[in-house]
Amino acid sequence: AGEFPTDFIRSIINEDQAAGAYDGRVVTRFPPEPNGYLHIGHAKSICLNFGVGEQYQGARCHMRFDDTNPTREDIEYVESILADVKWLGFDWGENLFYASDYFEQLYEYAEQLIRDSNAYVDSLTADEIREFRGTLTEPGKESPDRNRPAEESLDLFRRMRAGEFADGEYVLRAKIDMASPNLNLRDPVLYRIRHAEHHRTGKDWCIYPMYDYAHSLSDSIEGITHSLCTLEFEDHRPLYDWCQEALGVYRSRQIEFARLNLTHTVLSKRRLRQLVEEGHVAGWDDPRMPTLSALRRRGYTPESIRDMCERVGVARRNTMTELALLEHCLREDLNRRAPRRMAVLRPLKVVITNYPEAGSETFEAINNPEDETMGTRCVPFGREVYIERDDFMEDPPRRFYRLAPGREVRLRYACLITCTDVVKDELGEIVEVHCTYDPESRGGTAPDGRRVRGTIHWVSAADAIPIEIRLYDNLFTESDPAGSETDFLDLIDRDSLEKVIAKGEPALAKAQAGDRFQFERLGYFCADTDTQPEAPVFNRTTTLRDTWAR
Ligand code: ATP
Ligand code: MG
Ligand code: MG
Repeated sequence: AGEFPTDFIRSIINEDQAAGAYDGRVVTRFPPEPNGYLHIGHAKSICLNFGVGEQYQGARCHMRFDDTNPTREDIEYVESILADVKWLGFDWGENLFYASDYFEQLYEYAEQLIRDSNAYVDSLTADEIREFRGTLTEPGKESPDRNRPAEESLDLFRRMRAGEFADGEYVLRAKIDMASPNLNLRDPVLYRIRHAEHHRTGKDWCIYPMYDYAHSLSDSIEGITHSLCTLEFEDHRPLYDWCQEALGVYRSRQIEFARLNLTHTVLSKRRLRQLVEEGHVAGWDDPRMPTLSALRRRGYTPESIRDMCERVGVARRNTMTELALLEHCLREDLNRRAPRRMAVLRPLKVVITNYPEAGSETFEAINNPEDETMGTRCVPFGREVYIERDDFMEDPPRRFYRLAPGREVRLRYACLITCTDVVKDELGEIVEVHCTYDPESRGGTAPDGRRVRGTIHWVSAADAIPIEIRLYDNLFTESDPAGSETDFLDLIDRDSLEKVIAKGEPALAKAQAGDRFQFERLGYFCADTDTQPEAPVFNRTTTLRDTWAR
């Protein structure tokens, strides 16, 4: 299937398919913990898991919330996660699951482990457990409770569930090997007491399963064949396997791949939450954030994110992906799809002195040179227009091909103008530029064929509408803020948001939140969720200059 990516995980699945493993089934899952918003790193996992789920005959991908840790989880996150996965373009169909729905089953499994002498209730404190665990060079020490009779552990475990004990008084531990070179196998904790309310099960439980245990057995319960996770779980795989093996339940296979790292941002929910909670950004969907909701609000397309994930590919080597690649994918997509409009960010008034005082006309402008089917629109023109301040220089260098005294330039789609005069205020600031136009050059070409190199954008002063534009820079000045010696919060660019009131062509008044445009020569812009009827607010999604160089 040439249209699908190839990578080492799909090679493994292909081999499994060829060998008839797992009865020929392929079932993956995407298992976020609902304790934050999804970021672009999660998109890699979503594209992989749901991509595999779509690729193979009869395959599927489960959407599962790994909601086994009550304290930081919330329904708000559940809802945002579902919306983000949908927005990326994936569909879990009937297959929406919550690990918390397995609490009873997971509890039964734990009793079975106790009965089989594979687990015991321990009264060591968290600190003692850490101390007893030993180090990489030094074996661990067995807990005095390790050989507690199964009957006694069972009784204590039931009383843990019944709420007889305070947080931390007891834990349930797997009985594996305190001398294992893998620290994860030195009798890991399986259950802890936590008198906390869960967003789905309320106060039903005061003991909660630990991640490795719950994750392995949730995969097994759902008949997951290939459990794809990031490399940091490689050392946990023996425990993942142990849980299923000790209970004799359905065996899933865990395969690890490298996480996505992106320059100029941080991809860790903990750090992102800190940015939000400490007010460094306006929220999870602040357009400078790497969350999917922020990228959506800023104007990123799901197609561009999927494209980037595919180009990065799936491998086992940890790398840093350039933000420029994501932007490149975005520009490619928007160049094909975004209608063109004209807006002027920093307006300078141009008066066309030989144009009739009350005159006006419209010019036909192409909506998208990449796509003829998007047609044309009429742009009003009059005696006064706004151009970009940067497009005028009073004393320009020779190779400045825009407007300057005595020089001629093309107003895109409209006509050729020549600067005759500069008007300044008492401080010497240029407030207005006077030009004449060539009435024979309507549409932008002179009948005598003379060459005019510069073409600039403009809006008619009489018709322009004010639009708020939010210009963004990277939130972090350094390319690897999480890996820096400086605290990442000290690397925040406090000037990464600039708001300007621009002038836009009148068609922009009807923009609705989420509408994307290319503002000619300026970049790609998306109407923000703060947009009101007739009062558009635009985010600059990205500039036009592509810095991707591979
Ligand atoms: P974080 O470390 O940012 O808090 P997490 O891994 O704890 O993220 P989960 O909600 O547990 O967040 O993640 C759900 C899935 O997404 C997991 O399978 C995880 O491996 C995967 N994932 C998280 N971050 C990345 C990333 N940067 N690249 C690829 N996959 C990721
Ligand atoms: Mg996690
Ligand atoms: Mg993590």
